[in-house]
Amino acid sequence: MIISVASGKGGTGKTTVATNLALSIGKAQFIDCDVEEPNANIFLKAKIKEHEDVSVSIPEMDKEKCDYCGKCSEFCVYNALAVVPSDVLVFPELCHSCGGCELVCPKDAVSWNERIIGRLEHGQVEDIDFYHGLLNVGEMQAVPVIKALKRKVDKSKNVIIDVPPGTSCPVIESISGSDYCILVTEPTPFGLHDLKLAVEVTRHLNIPFGVIINRDGIGDRKVERYCKNENIPVLLKIPERRKIAHLYSKGIILASEVYEWHEMFGLVFNRIQEEVKA
Ligand code: SF4
Ligand code: SF4
Repeated sequence: MIISVASGKGGTGKTTVATNLALSIGKAQFIDCDVEEPNANIFLKAKIKEHEDVSVSIPEMDKEKCDYCGKCSEFCVYNALAVVPSDVLVFPELCHSCGGCELVCPKDAVSWNERIIGRLEHGQVEDIDFYHGLLNVGEMQAVPVIKALKRKVDKSKNVIIDVPPGTSCPVIESISGSDYCILVTEPTPFGLHDLKLAVEVTRHLNIPFGVIINRDGIGDRKVERYCKNENIPVLLKIPERRKIAHLYSKGIILASEVYEWHEMFGLVFNRIQEEVKA
């Protein structure tokens, strides 16, 4: 079963939930798709054993063949090409490697170069097979790194995917193909606003989902009321407690320190399994 853990915005406790869940279910695969800021391994502490580069294809124009007609730059909706009287300028960071410029070029002047934009790292901690991706500084295309990570999904295991914050393309790429999605939120007006956006995306992808409320007690009951009205299951409420914040600040997973939480995340997993089977 593939369970993705998402939230409408950063800092809601998404990685806390994902790492606690992985630890509580034991034999699992953990994939941190938050490639701009992967932090799950601060908590899991997997020993990295392997890494591999992630690259994308970028066009190069053959100046012998090109007649600077401009059809390629007219086609490129990402503005990754500019044709000037005696040159075609390529802006690699904007290119989405869609291949369209090659298709529209009447002179067969387009060839391809590989450009490294990030890397994957793979490691192990206890029974957890761990992967995360790292997008190089200055790169804007998180999706190719996430796609490379998703190719590592081992369907023979329970897979936990730590999704980037927000509701944009990297989020959709990370969540797609999941059997279930946990949406982590806080009981505040901002939390509710971002939860509503995350619910829209998850419904659109037709993935069953439930909510975990983190820092319960800091705000109001509007998130709970919203979930009740929308018939969204609240899987767990994690209270605002000094001890929990203290463990988090030290990079310690709650379920590894307090057996009660190990059990509670285990129950969340059982409930998800039942909902997916139903
Ligand atoms: S479409 Fe082909 S020939 Fe025309 S400017 Fe682009 S690379 Fe050159
Ligand atoms: S591959 Fe697609 S995105 Fe990249 S330059 Fe060509 S048309 Fe633009």
